Amino acid sequence: MSVDAAALGIQPHIEEMTYASRLLYLEGHNDINNGQISYRIGDKIWIRRGFLGWEETTDQDFICIDFDGNRLEGEGAIPSEWPLHTEMYRVREDINCIIHSHPPYAMIFSATDLPLKAVTHDATPIMNTARFTLTTNTVTNKPVAQQVALASGKSNTMLLKNHGIVAAGKSVPEAVCWSIVLENACKLQLLAESTGVPYSSTEGIEIKTKSKIIFGTTAIREYWSYWCRKVDRHFNNG
Ligand SMILES: [Zn+2]
Repeated sequence: MSVDAAALGIQPHIEEMTYASRLLYLEGHNDINNGQISYRIGDKIWIRRGFLGWEETTDQDFICIDFDGNRLEGEGAIPSEWPLHTEMYRVREDINCIIHSHPPYAMIFSATDLPLKAVTHDATPIMNTARFTLTTNTVTNKPVAQQVALASGKSNTMLLKNHGIVAAGKSVPEAVCWSIVLENACKLQLLAESTGVPYSSTEGIEIKTKSKIIFGTTAIREYWSYWCRKVDRHFNNG
């Protein structure tokens, strides 16, 4: 069965995912097996192929699969963690893009019992970050993936114990934003913890007001524009 990317209107989202992948490299989300970014359109999912550095991604590196992981279009390895994506999309009609990566600071934070605090601006929109602790293993089968989806609740960010992060959004820019702020928030809180002295954090209504100002729809759109320029400067001589 063949899928026409242009007819489905997926091509703009593929291009966004290529930019997102390269940005994730620049933002330090690269590890030995990187991770995945996917976009759902109808009953199909476009997912970045496996065994590829984030920075190597091009528009040709996406595979279309169905909700059972069957290849509909595209070349290369279907990433083994595809069930994480399909099972989340199955129960989360509010999201169309999922990023799963293994960035170092969130990885370390996930290994602790530290509650996430709004030490910096970055944490204010993700104070409801979910935690998945059932297993530290990769999510390669549907039953475990269903537990991950259940654990996500209504949150767009999640820490997977000793494993990595999940960031989700209605759009690619939204999911990218949450993936970046989650890693930043973990990094800076761990830095605050490492000083060994007491530190404060934003509390109560200020969390909401800061988040609204700093991470409103217009702001995220502008951040996305900046991130695309950043990728162009680094990779495309922009
Ligand atoms: Zn993983």
